[in-house]
Amino acid sequence: MSKSIQLNTTQSNKHEIRVGYKIEDEIIQYISSNFSPRKGVFIVDENVFELYEQSFIKSISAFFEEVIFCIVPEGEQSKSIAIFTNLVSQVLSSGVERSTPVLVIGGGVTGDLGGYIAASCLRGMPLIHIPTTLLSMVDSSIGGKTGINHEIGKNLIGAFYQPKAVFTDLQFLETLPHSEIVNGLGEVIKYGMISDRSILSLLKKMPIEDPFSYSREWEQLVTICAKIKIDIVSKDFRESGVREILNFGHTFAHVIERVGNYKACSHGEAVFIGMWGAVKLSELLGFNIDISNLSEFRSLYKIKFNPTETIEELISLMLHDKKVKDGSIKVIVLENVENAVSKIITDVSVLKEAWKFIIYEFK
Ligand code: ADP
Ligand code: ZN
Repeated sequence: MSKSIQLNTTQSNKHEIRVGYKIEDEIIQYISSNFSPRKGVFIVDENVFELYEQSFIKSISAFFEEVIFCIVPEGEQSKSIAIFTNLVSQVLSSGVERSTPVLVIGGGVTGDLGGYIAASCLRGMPLIHIPTTLLSMVDSSIGGKTGINHEIGKNLIGAFYQPKAVFTDLQFLETLPHSEIVNGLGEVIKYGMISDRSILSLLKKMPIEDPFSYSREWEQLVTICAKIKIDIVSKDFRESGVREILNFGHTFAHVIERVGNYKACSHGEAVFIGMWGAVKLSELLGFNIDISNLSEFRSLYKIKFNPTETIEELISLMLHDKKVKDGSIKVIVLENVENAVSKIITDVSVLKEAWKFIIYEFK
């Protein structure tokens, strides 16, 4: 039996997020009470399709008389206008109706692309997210952001579009490469830092095994993280205020990802490194926080950060962050664990110290 968490963005836009292990029956029950069995669109990550075609996908798709499968090649390059157009053509040419459900099964890439296809076709078809990576379970499947990349930048084309439901089934983590678990843990640790220290204590006690092995602790961890994201997003659906604390570590991380051409490290690794900068900055601003909260998880991260850019260049790249407003650098800092606030940094010397600290620690 899964745990259910409610997300209320507005009164008229309520949906449920269910977290559990092997929850096919519940998914089928939900689909059968909300949709016609005539047709269903399945937008699926190619690796997930291969791994689950004869199990999970077979049992869910058996509910429908006709299934339109759209397979999404792995990798960020799938969030392109070309692939978007191609899959939209596939969906529209199959005679779907506005009430035909779109089930999106995959990680963040498939979720963003599939969500945007559901948002765009026929001015919006009912979307059901089934996240299959740890990162998408705790982050991208929640909050209604959908979109694709443009050559000018990442995620520049898209829409806020809420799914009708999110089904988070931990069985998918059993086939997820260990590096992707570590990737997702970057965001998990972030939630521990900004909102709930019990995540950090839980994680310290849990064996992070390769291959992944399901336990109630993992389910608890994913549920707590999803709940934090839901709470924050419910308060601030369009990202004007409270939601910005989710950006803890990210002003540094975006620069780290960018100088590595989005290849040198994963998003979660960059967030983990970025949080070291944000904690250092918090310390320099006089807050009561120290790096021991993060250093306990250091051994999970083998990643190095040796930029060819100077610290001045890294700081100027912070100014190019999509979330920067009015040319000032805004960073989320911690007054202490569980208490994140946003600060405009005018004193460049503290930013220099924070970057120096990161480079020293991850060289
Ligand atoms: P993220 O959620 O980190 O953005 P992606 O959508 O980029 O993840 O997926 C990361 C990689 O993991 C891709 O190669 C994808 O095909 C693969 N993948 C996604 N889910 C699973 C899974 N449950 N088992 C195995 N591989 C998976
Ligand atoms: Zn992130």
